[in-house]
Amino acid sequence: MQLIKPSVLNLKSYKPNEIPYRVKLDANEGCNYLFKDGVEIKNIDINYYPDSQSLQLRKELSRFIEVDKENIIAGNGSSEMIELILKTFVDKGETILSFEPSFSMYPIYSQIYSAQYKRVECNDDFSVDMNKLFEIQKEINAKVIFICNPNNPTGYQISKEEIIHFIKKTDALVVVDEAYMEFSNNGQSLKDEVNDYPNLIVLRTLSKAFGLASIRLGYLISNKEIVSMINKVKPPYNLNTLTQQVGIKALREKEKMNEYVKGVKERRKVVFNKLKQLGFKVYESEANFIFFKSDILSLFEKLSNKGILVRRFTGNLEGYYRVSIGTNDENKQFLKALKEIVENERS
Ligand SMILES: *Cc1c(COP(=O)(O)O)cnc(C)c1O
Repeated sequence: MQLIKPSVLNLKSYKPNEIPYRVKLDANEGCNYLFKDGVEIKNIDINYYPDSQSLQLRKELSRFIEVDKENIIAGNGSSEMIELILKTFVDKGETILSFEPSFSMYPIYSQIYSAQYKRVECNDDFSVDMNKLFEIQKEINAKVIFICNPNNPTGYQISKEEIIHFIKKTDALVVVDEAYMEFSNNGQSLKDEVNDYPNLIVLRTLSKAFGLASIRLGYLISNKEIVSMINKVKPPYNLNTLTQQVGIKALREKEKMNEYVKGVKERRKVVFNKLKQLGFKVYESEANFIFFKSDILSLFEKLSNKGILVRRFTGNLEGYYRVSIGTNDENKQFLKALKEIVENERS
């Protein structure tokens, strides 16, 4: 196929797990606590194109995060926001920098847009070294730097001060992906600093803390200049009316969300301690998942044979796993299956 872009030729398509399961803890999706009985959207002009600027939704977002709506763009998940950033800022051959491991979509989009993707390895305990990031950035002069905070898949959180210190020292565009910030114990969000710097973008989503991964709703927060540039590139009518309306309803339930997040943090402690008890190497997490290491051969298969889905890793991260914090019942089923496997290994 000679017509295809070389950058796309050797790209693999993104394949989510398709294994049958009882308990799904592989994608950090969270629970359906807002719309258990479904969701009713009335009186919408379904024949018309959606509001291209998602005005009402952005007003609701603005109330929710206490940032001016002129600093916000909404779209189909933070995934669309990541792509819009590349479309707006990155030309072929330019460089994008991030930590390794981090969110798998950064290198994928970089490849699609023919950018070079460079990685700064996390420390052995999966903490990150912002000075090392700075030194490497000085060498390679990347145009865009993605900082996932708290980091997926490790759960490690960088302090706000450290990131600000870094932003001040660099001319590169710093994109802080805060998909999991709601689950952080000591909120280190940079959403309130976007007007203080010319080079800061914050990404957020309703896929995790609101338990709304299915509706595809994410948003970007930045200064007005960057917002106006990205708005030139954003496709018109990018966000459908149904998603805008469900998003508005969800954002009015801030208290329910806070309560849910509180529960996740409590259950995170329980799962963390149990994993430790079972003898795994477990990493502290500020997100709605836990990263752990196991020497048990084919642990992923052993769990999925029992109907439990977790995320596994390959290559350098062979033997590492990420498990979402589910409901009490889901976590119990996961830990019970794991305990059986551990006991079986010993006997
Ligand atoms: C889950 C996740 C997102 C959210 O993506 P959506 O497209 O909004 O569903 C963004 N960034 C990271 C690091 C994630 O793990």
